[in-house]
Amino acid sequence: QGKNRYVIFNDDLWENFNNHYKKVYEIKSAIENKEFIIHYQPKACIETNKITGLEALVRWNHPTKGIIYPDAFISCAEETGLISQIDITVLEIAAQQLSEWNKQGKKKYNISINISPQFFLSTHFIPTVDRVLKKYVVNPSNLQLEITENIALNDINLSKEVIKELRVRNIKISIDDFGKGYSSMTYIKEFYFNDLKIDKSFIDNIINNKVDQTMIEMIINLSKIRGFEVVAEGVETDEQLAFLRKLGCHKYQGYLLSKPKPIHELCI
Ligand code: C2E
Ligand code: CA
Ligand code: CA
Ligand code: CA
Repeated sequence: QGKNRYVIFNDDLWENFNNHYKKVYEIKSAIENKEFIIHYQPKACIETNKITGLEALVRWNHPTKGIIYPDAFISCAEETGLISQIDITVLEIAAQQLSEWNKQGKKKYNISINISPQFFLSTHFIPTVDRVLKKYVVNPSNLQLEITENIALNDINLSKEVIKELRVRNIKISIDDFGKGYSSMTYIKEFYFNDLKIDKSFIDNIINNKVDQTMIEMIINLSKIRGFEVVAEGVETDEQLAFLRKLGCHKYQGYLLSKPKPIHELCI
């Protein structure tokens, strides 16, 4: 390693290196071979239980291993800069779905997609969104982008610029996993969103934890003042839903309503 430091390049290190390298290669070829697919999870209005939109969640349809979930490849894709290409693939599939509904004259749903901070802050982000919307002739207001507060950790001004560009186009924006990070409150004050999604970790304890209840109530009240709609993520029980209704939460998502599924398996 130089400077009088050394490491023994043992079998374990070699295997780690090898595995990582193999995974990167596999993700690259999976993008080329179109092995990434989308499962959709609906969100619904808490008052009416009507579906208001679908969230696109990426899955790797591996030729031998079957369906692989994002936790197994997103961080590797982020480290290697491949995440933007995965996000673009998802954007294309979602836009294609929206244009299909359009052609069939069917009832349409908004589709939300998750955007990694890396892609969001890159110079090709806005041009790519424009290109895909144009290619599939999609109404921008049918597209919603979910971003996490990590986007602004490095560059608040750039993040604000990008959000402004999206607003000009009438593309909807959600802040995802709200409450999980450290600077959440600043976001309500400084940024504009359409939806604010409360992280599942708060919903998990909503029945028994007075602090979580109060925090959710506070987030809902602040959001109302700012004109954001609040979405509760990871709702699994009727008790949780009843509680959220009492607090005035607008929308919910979670296994209670539906697990993420391929589009043709959704009851919509
Ligand atoms: P997320 O955006 O917070 O998505 C919610 C995750 O919680 C999903 O996991 C979903 O399947 C799961 N979930 C939903 N309802 C429930 C519930 O009631 N109970 C439980 N236990 N889980 C529930 P999934 O699909 O494995 O995705 C994990 C994360 O991977 C996502 O978290 C998102 O951050 C990321 N991700 C997924 N698709 C994409 C993508 O296309 N691009 C990027 N950049 N990230 C993605
Ligand atoms: Ca999300
Ligand atoms: Ca989330
Ligand atoms: Ca989450």
